[in-house]
Amino acid sequence: MRTFTTDILRTCLRFSLLVLALPLLAHAGLPKASNVPGGVAIVPLGSVSTGADKPQTWLGDKPVLVTSDHNQWYAVVGLPLDITPGPHELSVKTGGETKAESFTVVPKSYPEQHIKLKDKSKVELSAADLARAEREIAAIKELKRHWRAAQDTDLEFIVPAEGPLASRFGLRRFFNEEPRAPHVGLDVAVARGTPVKASAQGTVLAVGDYFFNGKTVFVDHGNGLITMYCHLDQINVQAGEPVSKAQLLGLSGMTGRATGPHLHWSVVLNGAMVDPELFIPPIPESQ
Ligand SMILES: [Zn+2]
Repeated sequence: MRTFTTDILRTCLRFSLLVLALPLLAHAGLPKASNVPGGVAIVPLGSVSTGADKPQTWLGDKPVLVTSDHNQWYAVVGLPLDITPGPHELSVKTGGETKAESFTVVPKSYPEQHIKLKDKSKVELSAADLARAEREIAAIKELKRHWRAAQDTDLEFIVPAEGPLASRFGLRRFFNEEPRAPHVGLDVAVARGTPVKASAQGTVLAVGDYFFNGKTVFVDHGNGLITMYCHLDQINVQAGEPVSKAQLLGLSGMTGRATGPHLHWSVVLNGAMVDPELFIPPIPESQ
């Protein structure tokens, strides 16, 4: 006779088997899908047939990365933090035909961080600093829009520096209750001089020393996927140089606007700043 306890055990077992089976169903070689502002949507585009070209995809006027996994084409769409939740459409060109593929973005409220600063000069920039920062923001915006068609793009990133997670993507920051730009990267707590490595194979798009980001390396992984490594103490690569996955790019530091040594790592996809944690295995938090 079945008892209540065995029924519960069976249910638990079934549930744990389901949980165990879930990772097997996840896409290999694709980032984690997260249809939220600052996330990544994975939109299936049909099966890969021999001889047929890779579909070309756009979100508005921006080209979107397309990759294959288990014989299926997928559009990997970067969702900007300011995207409106609700239905959205990609235009997909296969052969000579163009059609629309829809996907939905759901809202996400990122945590807030309130910082009290006594020294206002740390927040209010001089006219010269403001002019410099504005010039650099425009130049960085151009770099983020860069598109280089590549045969394939490695979407399984390594964490560029070994250390605990210090600050997550999307954090909404307030200085003396004044809203500031949200945190569009992932901070890894590392001491000055820690090796910073390329999260995947690519080409160095640019290197620079910026007012806010400090010494920075941009790596272009192809098809609109770009990574940024900021506040470096030292840069070991040059623009135009090909880099392999895990190749040393430089050493961590606190150049630019940084309250302490850490690596700020950003991921850009079709021009949108997206959550780097979607491209890496989970890393432990500090404290
Ligand atoms: Zn940061």
